[in-house]
Amino acid sequence: MNIEENIKEFQRFLSNKNCRLIAVSKTKPVEDIKLAYRAGQRNFGENKVRELRDKQPHLPQDIRWHMIGHLQTNKVKYIAPFVTMIHAVDSLKLLVEINKQALKNGRVIDCLLQVHIAEEESKFGLDENELMDLLTNETLHELKNINIKGLMGMATFTGDENQIRKEFGFLKNLFDEVSLGHHLSNTDWKEISMGMSGDYKIAVEEGSTMIRVGSSIFGERIYH
Ligand SMILES: *Cc1c(COP(=O)(O)O)cnc(C)c1O
Repeated sequence: MNIEENIKEFQRFLSNKNCRLIAVSKTKPVEDIKLAYRAGQRNFGENKVRELRDKQPHLPQDIRWHMIGHLQTNKVKYIAPFVTMIHAVDSLKLLVEINKQALKNGRVIDCLLQVHIAEEESKFGLDENELMDLLTNETLHELKNINIKGLMGMATFTGDENQIRKEFGFLKNLFDEVSLGHHLSNTDWKEISMGMSGDYKIAVEEGSTMIRVGSSIFGERIYH
């Protein structure tokens, strides 16, 4: 894998699009992240708090870190001082905790609400009704140290392009609906985080503003 060349290829691909690359560096060493940084990449994604905490001090401080994985309430405090955006928020309880930790750090933290769009069963992500319930909950109005920037979703892991396109299209429609009807002081509907190595082209066609790409840049991951 030529990480710098891969980054440059994504830069070319996205240059005429309203979409940014989040380079997903999970399981990859700090040296690999530095190569991507050298090619101009600044937005990086990790899915584990421990790993993000371990890497962050060893890397340039102008990197914008995105927490893209499921986040436990009791771990928010470890990333609140520096994280740029939290992508997979799927409960009011988590938003309340992010708000609390952001306040402690004198920050406002950008969040995306994760919507369950795949066919596969998963305990993560809100369905349409849960999303609407959250957005109309009175408590949400009081959270001044979070800013809800948009929605995030993951398509079914399948080779069926029509299926994937349908799911991304569903998320885009939902985004359009909430961004028209749910304006609060702490919402700023701008981002749709969808698309990974296997499906980012479809995601961009369907309106993604943030693709989260790992293995196509850094190579396959090896889990021990
Ligand atoms: C790992 C991961 C990605 C990137 O996956 P690739 O297929 O390697 O591009 C994107 N989003 C989330 C939430 C992930 O956990």
